[in-house]
Amino acid sequence: MIRPGVLQDTHNRIIRDLRISITDRCNFHCVYCLPETEEAANFYRPNTLDPSKTRPANSNPIYPWKPRSKILTFEEITRITRVAASLGINKVRITGGEPLLRKGVENLVSQIASIDSIRDLSLTTNGTGFPALAKRLKDAGLGRVTISLDSLDRDNFKKITGRDALPEVLESICSAKSLGLAPVKLNAVIIRGLNDHEIVRLAQFAADESVVMRFIEFMPLGTRQAWQRDHVVSGSEIIEQIRSHMPLIPLPAGNLSETSTRWSFGQGTGEIGIIAPVSQPFCGNCNRIRLTADGKIRTCLFSLGEHDLKPALRSEADDIELAAELQRIVLKKEPGHRIGEPDFVQPTRTMSHIGG
Ligand code: SAM
Ligand code: SF4
Repeated sequence: MIRPGVLQDTHNRIIRDLRISITDRCNFHCVYCLPETEEAANFYRPNTLDPSKTRPANSNPIYPWKPRSKILTFEEITRITRVAASLGINKVRITGGEPLLRKGVENLVSQIASIDSIRDLSLTTNGTGFPALAKRLKDAGLGRVTISLDSLDRDNFKKITGRDALPEVLESICSAKSLGLAPVKLNAVIIRGLNDHEIVRLAQFAADESVVMRFIEFMPLGTRQAWQRDHVVSGSEIIEQIRSHMPLIPLPAGNLSETSTRWSFGQGTGEIGIIAPVSQPFCGNCNRIRLTADGKIRTCLFSLGEHDLKPALRSEADDIELAAELQRIVLKKEPGHRIGEPDFVQPTRTMSHIGG
């Protein structure tokens, strides 16, 4: 039954967090998300390499970039956010694809920041292009930034992301810190055999730079269906590795719907966070929905279906009808993902489309 004024699902979860992917495009080709070639996607199974399948990612017939006409305008995104805010959404993250590739992103930040009840506005970026935009984003009302950083080794960074961009990403982290876009959070997806040997170094970086390093378990979401259970380094394994080199003190959870467990080093303001959706699912407290760049609401990262808001948005529907549509969609939110279950089916859309 629809409860007036809120976004509540049939499992009694109230939705407060909206993640908005503003573009499906990206200038990186992370092996776990949008690998450039079949070879890159097959990094973990060299024996099955088929050279005939080595082709640029964007020639993949399943993943051409969406045409501009299918992508929501900033006005459409702001309207959906305003309607969602009227139903209790108070936390918004702008993501992608690479959100900084969308021209004028600071204008969208400013439009969303002006919605009264949004009290937490953040952005996730791979860090390229950020130094040039950082001040404008902050002035527009951006509160926080999360920057992806999977490796501190220039060659390994390039191997993982397909781009030789580590110096630029490190510069972005400095910009975010100096502008006070705090807490500056870094995301590292840990994959066995690829960057698990860098776990302690990444944790030490968080301590040295007084930032929050969040270690994320590898999830089954990439374009080339590269995921294998054996390549997931579990959150507990990550903690054990770090703990054998440095002290870790558990920190209390900020709130029930927090996805990470947090640890300090016992001194300084650096922290680590563990996001373990595969080994320790947190679906019971999930309070998120996602809006894709092409106007679909996804009620779970692993949803197999999507709910297209474009017909309502681009018709005569008023905000009351749009709100009712959002409420109906939220009622269909899945109880949880089914990773690890025999009937689990990987969604066809990658994180770069869904919005991480
Ligand atoms: N392009 C931006 C970036 O990389 O920060 C924002 C979009 S990206 C999809 C958001 C986050 O999702 C990144 O931190 C990325 O590492 C994470 N991600 C992408 N694919 C993933 C996967 N298969 N498993 C776990 N995390 C993933
Ligand atoms: Fe691009 Fe982010 Fe996906 Fe990497 S994780 S390919 S930077 S969208």
